[in-house]
Amino acid sequence: MKIGRRRIKPRLNAQRSPRAQLGSKLYFGQDFDRTMFYRTEVFVHRFTCRTIKLFFVFQFCESENLFRRERLKTVSQSSDLQSARAVFLDRDGTINEDSGYVSHPRELIIYPWAAEAIRLINESGMKAFVITNQSGVARGLYTEETLHAVHERMREELAREGAKIDAFYYCPHHPDFGDARYKKICDCRKPRPGLLHRAAREHRIELARSYVIGDKASDMNLAAGVGAVGALVLTGYGRGTHADSERWPCEPSIVAGDLLEAVNIILDRM
Ligand SMILES: [Mg+2]
Ligand SMILES: [Zn+2]
Repeated sequence: MKIGRRRIKPRLNAQRSPRAQLGSKLYFGQDFDRTMFYRTEVFVHRFTCRTIKLFFVFQFCESENLFRRERLKTVSQSSDLQSARAVFLDRDGTINEDSGYVSHPRELIIYPWAAEAIRLINESGMKAFVITNQSGVARGLYTEETLHAVHERMREELAREGAKIDAFYYCPHHPDFGDARYKKICDCRKPRPGLLHRAAREHRIELARSYVIGDKASDMNLAAGVGAVGALVLTGYGRGTHADSERWPCEPSIVAGDLLEAVNIILDRM
């Protein structure tokens, strides 16, 4: 046995590698090769794992997008079958900064997220209307012509970003100010529902399936008055309105940071 062992051992050494016989330095070299091989293997393994992960993340994002597109398609198809739904948008403090009275087109500052929000409404198949109290006309701060110019500018700026307002409705009246044309207790000054009824007639809108987005209690009360869903935005007078909400007759169904968030919540609920 002893002899056998002695005879086998050198033979194995000889078989391992010709280099192995040249000394420990070359053994180190072999270990080094193995280490490199191991490291390469780890690298390949990690690379493969990351690629697979990335692939699944990409697939997930794609299916999310697909889901959103399908949802918009379903919403627009269902609205084709029935009379249209609409989102009624307050103007000052909701679409644009509320600087008191916008008495010239150049004073109009549209919020940077407004166009995307309105574009989402357009893509959903719902109509988008502006519903605004403009007592500045009755007060003599600007004329109806100027108001039309302001709305034309808004239309242009939104169109540049692919968003469209289907129609603008405004109340130029006030119970205490103006001449005979404008000084009256009208049925169109929010929270009275005259403007919504006009829009509903002209565009065949079902108000009870529609939405009102605004920054004041009058917007929320308007929504409640016609059975629409009210969404309060916290821009413009929104924060103050929200803080004071215990005093109004009608609480909003939705409270959102801004117009874009409000629209996203509405689309998620559909
Ligand atoms: Mg407002
Ligand atoms: Zn009016």
